[in-house]
Amino acid sequence: MITVLSGGTGTPKLIQGIKEIVDPSDLTIIVNTLENDYFSGVYVSADIDTVMYTMADMINDETWYGVKDDTFITNERLAEIGCPELLRIGDIDRATKIQKTQLMEKYGLLRACEIQSENMGIKSKILPMSEEESEIKIISDMGELEFHDFLIKHQSEPEVLDLKFSNVNPSNGVVDAIKNSDAVIIGPSNPITSILPILSLSGVREALKETYVVAVSPIIGNEAVSGPASKFMNALDIEVSSVGVADLYKDFLDNFVIDDKDSNLNSQLKQIVNKVTITNTIMNSLDAKKNLAQIIIDSIP
Ligand code: GDP
Repeated sequence: MITVLSGGTGTPKLIQGIKEIVDPSDLTIIVNTLENDYFSGVYVSADIDTVMYTMADMINDETWYGVKDDTFITNERLAEIGCPELLRIGDIDRATKIQKTQLMEKYGLLRACEIQSENMGIKSKILPMSEEESEIKIISDMGELEFHDFLIKHQSEPEVLDLKFSNVNPSNGVVDAIKNSDAVIIGPSNPITSILPILSLSGVREALKETYVVAVSPIIGNEAVSGPASKFMNALDIEVSSVGVADLYKDFLDNFVIDDKDSNLNSQLKQIVNKVTITNTIMNSLDAKKNLAQIIIDSIP
């Protein structure tokens, strides 16, 4: 059994590779829920939906958000009648979100994900990290911003001074999944807004210490491959480099996978982590995703 910790862009790319070489029924994916909220009257769990669509081969893997080849009839009509959406939700994607909202309000998010996974023919277990409501706020030079306002309305442009997020309890099965796994893979997700929230759940760091953990760095040189991770790391005084990421994971990390372009960091990283693997981590093709996944799987003792 392998458990993956995931956000909604970098790790799903890796999952596309992992699912080609690991039996999906041997896979549990614990997904960040910190950014979940209601938009346009529906509950949006963007990272969970991205992981589900990835597993069901439905993902729009250009934007890593929503369903490929979706239409936007409802979204466009909403704008026409004076009700523009902050999140641009496609029609098929909206159907998923309406169903998830109804299932969640009846049975909770965990069961809602289980039912939807079953409907989509997904054999892996997709676990929301928490079923509790949470909040993330960006303290910026424009004042305190809601996460999605920062990301979408302001295009991640404001200077980030600090971040605040709520502490929540793990969903049933999260800690056990880690404890019962042969290995945990931390994909190249945003260490601050995707992975730290999972690591902050009670019992998770302790369980990771007992398990073989391999992580892929989302940072190459002094930049994130995409998205605002470097802004968030800067705001928290964390060095924007693979060394800064390794520092966050050092109490449980067994193998750290960094990009070829960072090979100069090898000796510095070896003082923090037992094993450092240097390879191409840019996942711009299915072959690149499979190669990286294979290297990770082969490293599991
Ligand atoms: P979010 O929920 O959309 O923020 O997505 P994630 O947290 O899963 O992923 C965002 C992180 O993935 C960013 O920090 C990127 O630097 C990283 N990332 C995206 N694509 C790649 C890639 O191909 N290789 C590596 N190494 N990192 C990537």
